[in-house]
Amino acid sequence: MFKIDLTGKKAFIAGVADDQGYGWGIAKALAEAGCTIIIGTWTPLMNIFKTSLERGRFDDSRRLSNGNLMEFEKIYPLDATFDTMEQVPEDIRSHKRYKVFDHYAIEDVARLVKEDFESIDILVHSLANSPEVDKPLLETSREGYLAALSASAYSFVSLLQHFGPIMPSGSSALSLTFIAAEKAVPGYGGGMSSAKAALESDTRTLAWEVGRKWGIRVNTISAGPLRSRAARAIAFIDDMIEYAESNAPLTHPLKASHIGNAALFLLTPISEAITGTTIHVDNGLHAMGIVNKGIDNRKEKQSLVKSSHS
Ligand code: NAD
Repeated sequence: MFKIDLTGKKAFIAGVADDQGYGWGIAKALAEAGCTIIIGTWTPLMNIFKTSLERGRFDDSRRLSNGNLMEFEKIYPLDATFDTMEQVPEDIRSHKRYKVFDHYAIEDVARLVKEDFESIDILVHSLANSPEVDKPLLETSREGYLAALSASAYSFVSLLQHFGPIMPSGSSALSLTFIAAEKAVPGYGGGMSSAKAALESDTRTLAWEVGRKWGIRVNTISAGPLRSRAARAIAFIDDMIEYAESNAPLTHPLKASHIGNAALFLLTPISEAITGTTIHVDNGLHAMGIVNKGIDNRKEKQSLVKSSHS
C-alpha cells in the first residue's frame, strides 16, 4: 500500500489565477499531500489574483482537510507565450498590467525558480488561450490559429525545455487536454481543438525525449467540462456540462477535485511506470458513441409498439 506523502517535494503549477479552475484543483490535491506549491500566474492577472488572495477571497477554497489554508510558497508572473523577454513586443511590455513586472517569460521564470528553490519535482501546465475561440475553425485566421497553438501547446514544450534541467530523475510533468483533440466538438474553435491535438501528440514525443534525457515522466489528463473562468469564454460551456451529465456513464457533477486526485496519481511515484499517456477524467463521457437520449427514445418507442400490439 502506497502512502502519498509529498512533504519536501516542490510543484510548479502554471495557470492559476483564481479558485475556479483545474490548476487550483490540482494545487489543492498536491497541498493535501504536503507538497510545496509554487504558482505561475498569467502576468495581466497577477495583481488581481494576489490582492484577492491577500483579502481572503479564496480562503474557503484554500481550506485543507487538516484545517490549515493552502499556502503558495511563491507566485511568479508568467506569460507562457514568451520564451525570453526579448520576444515581448513593446505594446505588451508597456501595457499597464505588464509594465510593473520585469521578468515573466518562461526562461526567466525557470531561472528565478531555480534561484529560489534549486529544483522542482512536479511541473503542471494548466493553461490555454485562443483569441478566436468563438470562431469556427473554418473562419479562424492564421494569426488566431497560431496564437492558440503558441499559448496552449508550444507553451508546454517550452516549459519542459526550461524546467527539465531543474527536475531530478523521477519527476513528473502533466498538462490538461480536452476531448476536442480526438473528436469534433462544434463551438470549440479558434484552433483550440488543433492545439489540444498537438498537446496530446507532444505528450508522447516529449515522454520519449525527456524520459531518456532526464528520467522525467509526461502525461496529460483529458478533462471533462468545468465552468472555469477560461471555459466561460466558450459560449456553450453550460450546454457542454449538461450534455456530459446527461450522457456520461457516471452522473455526479464533475469537479476540479476529481481532476486534482487523478493528477495526484500521475504526479507521484504511484504511477512511476506511466508516461506518454492521455488519461480521460470525464466521468467516462469519452467512452460513449451515441447520446443517451437516442436510447431512451428507442426504448419508449419499443414499449409504445408493444402496447399497441397487445
Ligand atoms: P482556468 O481559467 O482556471 O485556467 C486557464 C489559465 O490559463 C488561467 O489562469 C489563465 O490566466 C491562464 N493563461 C491564459 N493565457 C496565458 C498565458 N499566455 N500565460 C500564462 N497563463 C495563461 O481554466 P481551466 O478550464 O481550468 O483551464 C486549465 C486547463 O484545463 C486548460 O489547459 C484547459 O484547456 C483545460 N481544460 C479545461 C476544461 C474545462 O471545461 N474547463 C476541459 C478540459 C481541459
